[in-house]
Amino acid sequence: MGMITIVGAGPVGLQAALNLKRNGLDVSVIEEHREVGKPVQCAGLISKTGCRELGLNIEESVVNEIKGARIFSPNGTELTIRKKETTAFVVDRYKFDQVFYKKAVRENIPVSLNSKLIDIRKNSLFLETNGHGELQKSDLVVGADGVTSIVRHVVAPEVPQENFMHAFQVRAKGIFNPDLVEVYLDENAGGFFAWIIPENNSIARIGIANKMQENPAENLKKFIEKKGLVLDVLDRAGAMIPVGKPMQNLTFGRIMLVGDAGFHTKATTGGGIIMGLHAANACSETIVDFVKNKKSLSEYNKRLAKINRELAMHWKIRAFLNNTEKSRIDDFFYHAKKAGIEDFLQDHGDMDNPSRFMGKMLRNPRLWGLLPALLKMV
Ligand SMILES: Cc1cc2nc3c(=O)[nH]c(=O)nc-3n(C[C@H](O)[C@H](O)[C@H](O)COP(=O)(O)OP(=O)(O)OC[C@H]3O[C@@H](n4cnc5c(N)ncnc54)[C@H](O)[C@@H]3O)c2cc1C
Repeated sequence: MGMITIVGAGPVGLQAALNLKRNGLDVSVIEEHREVGKPVQCAGLISKTGCRELGLNIEESVVNEIKGARIFSPNGTELTIRKKETTAFVVDRYKFDQVFYKKAVRENIPVSLNSKLIDIRKNSLFLETNGHGELQKSDLVVGADGVTSIVRHVVAPEVPQENFMHAFQVRAKGIFNPDLVEVYLDENAGGFFAWIIPENNSIARIGIANKMQENPAENLKKFIEKKGLVLDVLDRAGAMIPVGKPMQNLTFGRIMLVGDAGFHTKATTGGGIIMGLHAANACSETIVDFVKNKKSLSEYNKRLAKINRELAMHWKIRAFLNNTEKSRIDDFFYHAKKAGIEDFLQDHGDMDNPSRFMGKMLRNPRLWGLLPALLKMV
């Protein structure tokens, strides 16, 4: 096997590159931006369980530890899930991505910055590097080039617009509860939700995501006014989030997709860091097996089965929320609260893997009143 090219130096692409290099394979990375980790387009919330399972080195990038969440239904019915211990971390996404990049540099992985993939024809990659056209040969390509992936455009059928959300987020000074994230199924967040993710008691990331045809910046303004938040805005960022069903095939000859490029995001929240990193491990393990043991690259789809089961469940929960009238979601929150869902999620909740608690919910007699709705999600 000759050169393997990873397109995109996000955490997912770099994780795949590191795994391949450590297995003795020739790998290089191309990244369209001048600096890895910029611009930041992320709220940076990741589960403690996910970090532990992946063995992530996050000390340098953690800015806050989160103990739970306040989730508000459309009419403001609140569910509060609060644990004694840390359940999630808020990270500085620039520093988080830089940790992967510095490791790649230490391992002598060539990372070409300011180098954008334009097209792929057979084993030729057409790049624009430092403003000049360039041709690079590659025996295998991993598309880790994010939500608007060019690699996906080249190899996979076009994904309809309803599989994406349009997000807008500000980082602002104000007064916040530093322990809890807030999630609002608000009227201004059609098809998704608004969030407040605190860095501490005076700075938070406040965002909203909407269907693609809506204007999330306008909607965030309305949400902030409605909430009466007094903010001093420090930064703004907008980006798309993939929220479609998990893709069943991510191997196209010698081209593979991973991370946001391959829809490894949770359709409930848009979070994609932890799932994307698990998928990066599956992708690189498949390539190593292909090179060393002559196994097929399509084994990747099988290795993704567990991740896809969780992602499918997130997608069903999203479909339930989007296809159910607001008043019925309010009723669901009301009944769930009365049935003790807050205590249940405090003990059994899992941000990434709904299967770890859905089954337990079905076995809990106090929650049986929620069965009709729950069954639509499993
Ligand atoms: C507003 C917002 C908030 C979010 N909040 C969270 C959160 O709280 N928690 C969470 O887990 N996830 C969150 N996400 C999702 C998360 O940011 C992504 O799932 C994650 O970044 C995916 O990693 P990746 O490496 O697949 O893609 P990316 O991080 O997007 O990296 C892709 C890389 O490819 C590069 N690239 C793209 N095209 C090309 C090209 N043609 N040539 C060369 N390079 C290219 C890009 O510059 C980029 O560096 C959020 C997303 C948004 C938009």
